[in-house]
Amino acid sequence: VIHDVDVTPKGRELQQTAREFAREVIAPQAQGFWDSAEFPQHIMDQMAEMGFMGLLAPEEYGGSGISTVDYVAVLEEIAWADMTVALTWQVHILITGNYLKFGTEEQRQYWVPKMTSGEILVALGGTEPDAGSDLKSIKTTAVREDGHWVINGRKMFITNAGTPRSDGLVLLARTGTRKNGDPDLSTIIVPKDAPGFRVGEKIRTLGWRAMDNRYLYFEDCRVPEENLLGVEGKGLSNIMTGLDLGRIAFGACSTGLAQACLDHSLEYARERVQFGQPISKYQAVQMKLADMATKIDAARALTLNAARARDAGSPEMSMAAAKAKLFASRTCVECSDEAFQIHGGRGFLLDGYPIARLYADAKTMEVGEGTNEMQRMAIAKHLGC
Ligand SMILES: Cc1cc2nc3c(=O)[nH]c(=O)nc-3n(C[C@H](O)[C@H](O)[C@H](O)COP(=O)(O)OP(=O)(O)OC[C@H]3O[C@@H](n4cnc5c(N)ncnc54)[C@H](O)[C@@H]3O)c2cc1C
Repeated sequence: VIHDVDVTPKGRELQQTAREFAREVIAPQAQGFWDSAEFPQHIMDQMAEMGFMGLLAPEEYGGSGISTVDYVAVLEEIAWADMTVALTWQVHILITGNYLKFGTEEQRQYWVPKMTSGEILVALGGTEPDAGSDLKSIKTTAVREDGHWVINGRKMFITNAGTPRSDGLVLLARTGTRKNGDPDLSTIIVPKDAPGFRVGEKIRTLGWRAMDNRYLYFEDCRVPEENLLGVEGKGLSNIMTGLDLGRIAFGACSTGLAQACLDHSLEYARERVQFGQPISKYQAVQMKLADMATKIDAARALTLNAARARDAGSPEMSMAAAKAKLFASRTCVECSDEAFQIHGGRGFLLDGYPIARLYADAKTMEVGEGTNEMQRMAIAKHLGC
């Protein structure tokens, strides 16, 4: 649990509310919706009623305007209980931020109150079958025609695109070519009822199973020209700015998952008796628990450091976010591995113990929000390599 001096009294209160909700409401249901892979809309609705959907947005748009440090303290509590809920929520919060930062006042007034109230859930479509880390190579095009953007292409992996509350997405598309041959990429708001837009099948996954990840199809899809979000040609940098917050959020979610691994392992190690005493008495098990605790503290500290940098508007924020995401996601993979080992055969069970779910949920933290190789490349570039 974060006991950071920078968490405000209001943040502390929200953190406590999140902790109780995570442990009493989400945790008992988590394995159930993970098994069924059914999106837990009822939980998102409860979080909306609690005022959680607009935590970072200013009050004038229906949000609470809390700091990033307060936000990560709350997010870690939710992630402790379940990754589908935590990640669905953080994606929504970060895209709301894109509307606030790059939207016109008209776009903000129209869309953001619906997001902060939880009336709608939002998605961001960058990735395509042939373009993941290399987003510059996307093939989806948007061409101006009679006051509209005409969009053609397809997207893959898009989170929050097909839930009962989903309303389209912010789409990254090629809107032109620069003199040097590079594509001009722009972000465009595509509402769910745009003609020519189709939400495809939900993608089945190893972990985060209840999360809503979709293929999306655009066939001569038409949206009004005014749906451009931000400046034409600046779409990639818009997305990257949002992803800084996403990386901090991945730091918090990874830390929450790692903490859950440690808490469950400690409890199990104290109870499980072999050779006449609890396995927590064996040094080999103690070493694992001590390493987990230490790495979790480091992951949390890096995440808080990045959150503080964001609150301060520091130019170091991007690097701090990359380092937090890199270290915390690796930590949660390692902690889930050790938790599995400490639980022995029970680590492999899908009933009665949460470890197999945590193990499956951990790995993709190293892939989403920019792979860990991409984080290392950005850090190395910043170092002057
Ligand atoms: C569950 C889930 C939800 C997602 N949600 C969204 C979403 O909502 N919106 C969205 O736009 N995307 C989403 N994504 C996509 C995600 O952002 C991409 O998976 C990620 O960016 C990596 O892209 P890729 O999977 O195509 O892998 P690739 O880019 O093909 O990479 C494959 C491997 O090659 C490595 N690699 C690639 N290039 C280099 C290089 N130059 N140097 C060294 N190594 C390299 C990578 O690090 C990785 O290990 C989601 C993905 C998942 C799994």
